[in-house]
Amino acid sequence: MRSSAEVVIIGGGCMGASVAYHLARRDVTDVVLLEREPLLATASTGRNAGGVRHQFSHEANVRLSIESIRLFERFEQTVGSAIDFHQDGYLFLLSTDKSVAEFRAAVAMQRRLGVEVDWLEPGQAREIAPGLDTDGVIAATFCARDGIADPNGVTMGFARAAQAAGIEICRDTEATGIVVAGDRVAGVRTTRGRIDTPVVVDAAGAWAGGVAALANIEVPIRPLRRHIFIAQPPGKDGWVRPSGRGGMDATAPDTRVLVIDFETTFYFHREGANLLFGMGDPNEAFGFDTTVRWDLLGEVVEVAVRRLPILAESAVSHAWAGLYEMTPDAMPIIGPAAARPGLFVIAGFSGHGFQHSPAAGRVLADLIVGADPQFDLTPFAPERFGRESGSGERHFV
Ligand SMILES: Cc1cc2nc3c(=O)[nH]c(=O)nc-3n(C[C@H](O)[C@H](O)[C@H](O)COP(=O)(O)OP(=O)(O)OC[C@H]3O[C@@H](n4cnc5c(N)ncnc54)[C@H](O)[C@@H]3O)c2cc1C
Repeated sequence: MRSSAEVVIIGGGCMGASVAYHLARRDVTDVVLLEREPLLATASTGRNAGGVRHQFSHEANVRLSIESIRLFERFEQTVGSAIDFHQDGYLFLLSTDKSVAEFRAAVAMQRRLGVEVDWLEPGQAREIAPGLDTDGVIAATFCARDGIADPNGVTMGFARAAQAAGIEICRDTEATGIVVAGDRVAGVRTTRGRIDTPVVVDAAGAWAGGVAALANIEVPIRPLRRHIFIAQPPGKDGWVRPSGRGGMDATAPDTRVLVIDFETTFYFHREGANLLFGMGDPNEAFGFDTTVRWDLLGEVVEVAVRRLPILAESAVSHAWAGLYEMTPDAMPIIGPAAARPGLFVIAGFSGHGFQHSPAAGRVLADLIVGADPQFDLTPFAPERFGRESGSGERHFV
């Protein structure tokens, strides 16, 4: 491991890897990325649902999506790795007038930014996602360029390209201290020795608050457990069954459309031959525990079968839990910590960070090299908390 570097990145999830890649693109290769686990992308990045969408309520998030999705669409040519990106769309199901009004404003903003989003009747939603029960659904929104991609593929793509350019990736290496000289960052202490550096990037996801505290800086990010369950098809025919009219009826979509029941936060998409589904638990307390709570499955299925009845006949084969990295306004923190020159934060994406990692990493790399990121970063400012800041993201699930 190098004993000095221009930049040290702490965290080897999609954010740290994206920053490393974008620094390399700017010819900054005297960089060390530290990951305390034996492998990259094993924390939140490796446990997420892979969803990628334009449909956010906050304009800054939509702008991150527009730039990120452009890169996902040409990732293989640009970065050099396949990421299994399927643009089969995101379908939001809305069942209250309040949600419809709220989405009307969001869709108008998304369209103003050039994103094509459609309003659908419940019947049209069922055509896109066969097997749905739309009882109580008033309207739906659909963006055909939304989709799902492989988080490990994206992270490893960024990491491999960064490494090929000369950036050092140190796995099994934990950052245990940040050296401060005067008020500036001067180095990082690790379980494998010290690295002198003028620039430290805190890309530690749900642990970013603890990493910033090593430099005596407060970053309000709290960990929140979220579950994912995998259901197997109910029979040998997969997600179809005889229709009674001689044909077969689909009991679940055969595309990878991602469906979100906005009121309950139940969501699902096809995952190979199986279905991946999840739902937020409003009673979940903040904490780092990622043990699977199997008692939650009954509650989730009770809600889920109202929207996707076939789940009542499917066996859940496995489940895992990971951490959302929540900020008070569900918006990320991207930028320099004003009180600690040399410390940059890219964290707190509040459960939708994978899809924003391409643009967020690009923006942070620009800030580090002193280039204009061409992006209004006010909504992401590390210092915004406690001040009168604008509204946060409302479409997180
Ligand atoms: C169940 C679930 C579903 C999700 N679904 C989606 C989705 O559909 N779409 C989407 O965009 N996002 C989704 N997310 C959110 C997404 O996974 C995160 O926003 C994103 O992965 C954050 O990436 P990261 O690199 O900041 O964090 P992480 O992937 O957590 O990486 C941080 C890394 O820092 C390392 N680290 C921490 N402290 C230290 C230290 N002191 N020294 C060295 N290394 C350290 C950790 O080991 C970890 O590997 C989901 C999350 C969960 C939990």
